[in-house]
Amino acid sequence: MNKSIKRLGIMGGTFDPIHYGHLVTAEAARGEYELDHVLFLPSGISPHKDPKTISDAQHRYLMTVFATLTNPYFEVSRVEIDREGVTYTIDTLRLLKEQYGADTKLYFITGADVIAEIMSWKDSSELIQLSEFIAATRPGFKFQPEYVDQWFFQQNKHLHQLKVPAMAISSTDIRLRVKAGKSIRYLVPESVEYYIRKNKLYIDKSDTQSEKNEAESVL
Ligand code: NAP
Repeated sequence: MNKSIKRLGIMGGTFDPIHYGHLVTAEAARGEYELDHVLFLPSGISPHKDPKTISDAQHRYLMTVFATLTNPYFEVSRVEIDREGVTYTIDTLRLLKEQYGADTKLYFITGADVIAEIMSWKDSSELIQLSEFIAATRPGFKFQPEYVDQWFFQQNKHLHQLKVPAMAISSTDIRLRVKAGKSIRYLVPESVEYYIRKNKLYIDKSDTQSEKNEAESVL
């Protein structure tokens, strides 16, 4: 790990699969917040998800590695997928703070929908003191609920919002398109598309009935 990194972006997500929306978001955050490096962090066993509905961590990790390979500022961490049991962001941020040192400022980047729930995350008050938080949204999206914004403000913190047009792309939509036999070209890097096809991801997995119905109706 490079100790000269003063501003580290941490791109937290399930990445099932990673897509251009994530990559554009990370690159936009790098420019906007002058980040020296962005660490992609595929999540392990999330506290709010049924692990049976998520692809194997190794698949998600490898797709993230392939997708980020050509950007010298991007790197992928196994820290959450290798951790046993449920993974909490607080544990990861404590570890990264220890590894990179007190002089490195952390910027945790993820979807605005997830950050809207941040007050219920483990040790949330400490969490927002350890890192800045960047909520990625689409242009025109109004961050809800507003009390989350106010909660940051009450603790002398500011919730950053980054509006990225490419956030219209979604992993759910990509999984549904694969299941329905539709094209995902230009939604994910070619390497990720090949990986999905080669490993027959998102085809056989028995998803919820609503996902099956959506797959049949996807454009
Ligand atoms: P999710 O529920 O899979 O995603 C919710 C929304 O956010 C989706 O629209 C998703 O789009 C978008 N999104 C997810 N990651 C993104 C990213 N890096 N950039 C832009 N948009 C993103 O969310 P999740 O992956 O489980 O959670 C996101 C992060 O928050 C993870 O690092 C997770 O560990 C952390 N988290 C921590 C706690 C806790 O510590 N208690 C609780 C919840 C979440 P796509 O589906 O297209 O990605």
